[in-house]
Amino acid sequence: MNRDEKIRDSLERLVVTIDGPAGSGKSTTASMLADRLGLKYLDTGAMYRAVTWSVLQQGIDPESETDVTRVAETMELELRTINGKATFFLEGKNIDTEIRSSEVSRYVSPVSRYPGVRRAMVKLQRMITKDGGVVVEGRDTGSVVFPFAHIKVFLVAEISERALRRRKQLETIGIEQDINEITENILERDRIDSSRDHSPLVRPVGSILVDTSNLSIDEQVSMIETEVRNENERLADLRVGRGEKNPFGAMSLYYRISHFLVRWFFKLIFGLRITGSENLEFKENLLFASNHLSYADPPIVGCALNREVWFVAKKELFKNRLFAWLIRTYHAIEIDREEISRKSIKTILGILRKGMSVLMFPEGTRSLDGDLGELKSGLGFVARLSGTTIIPVYASGTNELKQCFLRRKKLEVRIGPPIRVRAEGGAESRKNDNTILSSMVRQALRILKDEAQN
Ligand code: C5P
Repeated sequence: MNRDEKIRDSLERLVVTIDGPAGSGKSTTASMLADRLGLKYLDTGAMYRAVTWSVLQQGIDPESETDVTRVAETMELELRTINGKATFFLEGKNIDTEIRSSEVSRYVSPVSRYPGVRRAMVKLQRMITKDGGVVVEGRDTGSVVFPFAHIKVFLVAEISERALRRRKQLETIGIEQDINEITENILERDRIDSSRDHSPLVRPVGSILVDTSNLSIDEQVSMIETEVRNENERLADLRVGRGEKNPFGAMSLYYRISHFLVRWFFKLIFGLRITGSENLEFKENLLFASNHLSYADPPIVGCALNREVWFVAKKELFKNRLFAWLIRTYHAIEIDREEISRKSIKTILGILRKGMSVLMFPEGTRSLDGDLGELKSGLGFVARLSGTTIIPVYASGTNELKQCFLRRKKLEVRIGPPIRVRAEGGAESRKNDNTILSSMVRQALRILKDEAQN
């Protein structure tokens, strides 16, 4: 494959997300961008509007979470292309105009708060876009629906401009509404969308921020198109081609031998399965973020990665000599406490800056019940400061090795697609960004966990 073919191939699989508050220009930008790049277009807001419309249509109280959730779970929503425009059909009926009514606008944010509604819509969104080659637009598409999206855009605009745009959009479909009413509706939706517990509107870490207040539609689409094409080229160049050697996959002889032995030991004795290795085929160093179930995670996860990794481990783990050898193979760095300290963060940053890869267990401690715990902010901190791409890894069965030995349980390491991080932001936004990035990585791990269970 030559470079042009690689770039085209990468574009065809690309997932671009565009998020932002109401009236920031998402819909127009996303559909024009998709058109210019030859990609599909998905308006996730239209899906939440469809649920709301159906709820109102059936005379269901939008305050009744159970009834609303049932509507979302059972409705037959279908995306068709009509005159080149992506249009939603509900039970066979074109509802494009109906879902823009002011009544739907009034109730859509309260309806979108319900976790069950979001789960049903996110499932549908992932199904519609499973092959990539798509521009997705909404509130949580870069943070929750597609934490793995290749390119994320976040649009903002001044409120007066957003209200004017919404009025114009409504006029084109024959709906007249007072500007003050539109402004109030937008502000109220912003408030609910940004403060809800489940998948609030946030700017995803690593996204390109575009203020569209003083840009014409053509200007903003062109600007984003240039960014997407440049980033796509960069991604295509980073990908290791067939028959090409990855310089970041090089291993020292000692590492290679022990890696081989450990890998085959777990494969033959415990039936270890490794999936998603293609996600390692990038010519850059990586920061692996794995869930943590057992002390055996470091060697098991380490042997699934086709490259040398470094990781931090607490002192106690070095007591058993065989185990100490196993983890030293993976360049275990001894630390005093379980909590990642300033000193160990410095050490990890130093390793990443030298272009080497690191394995972290951001839950900080083993999960005893198998659930994913909250992630500590250390991961976000090192990823953002170093600008290193994060690869989420989900290991299952590592806490039940006896069952795996008897083949009653699966021992699996699932390697997820990369989450790209752009290093930036003032001191003020940093803490918040670490929290957002941690929840993005946690969401990615949850997706991998769901896949592992299916
Ligand atoms: O984009 P649009 O304004 O049509 O979205 C309507 C509403 O749908 C939003 O105000 C928000 O409450 C909800 N929504 C959401 N998550 C998305 C997209 C839209 O909660 N990904």
